[in-house]
Parts: sequence; C-alpha cells; structure tokens
Amino acid sequence: MAALDWRDARHYDRTRSLPCRWCGRPTPLRDEQRSPSHKVCAEQHLTVEGAEVDHDR
Ligand SMILES: [Zn+2]
Repeated sequence: MAALDWRDARHYDRTRSLPCRWCGRPTPLRDEQRSPSHKVCAEQHLTVEGAEVDHDR
C-alpha cells in the first residue's frame, strides 16, 4: 500500500535526526525527496496529495 520502501537505507539517516517537515519533531527518517519526515506523516500527506482522499474515517 505504501508508495515508499522505508526499510531502504536511503530513507534512514543514522548520523542525525532532523525536524520532520510535517510535524517538526526530530526524525532520522527521510522521505523520497530526502526531506526529514516520519513514515506516518509522509503517508498522511501522500494520501492527501494522492488521487483518492478518504473523507470517511
Ligand atoms: Zn512527523
């Protein structure tokens, strides 16, 4: 379901945590644009930016 493979080493920076681009809390994770982002935050925004937005939850 998720578009990103978060197990890929490119999505994980062990050397430092940076503020998440969405929520501002520190994270070692990187999204596909190499921006710091939690998995859940990125997936939320991927959903929002995707073709289908689920309003019924
Ligand atoms: Zn976040």
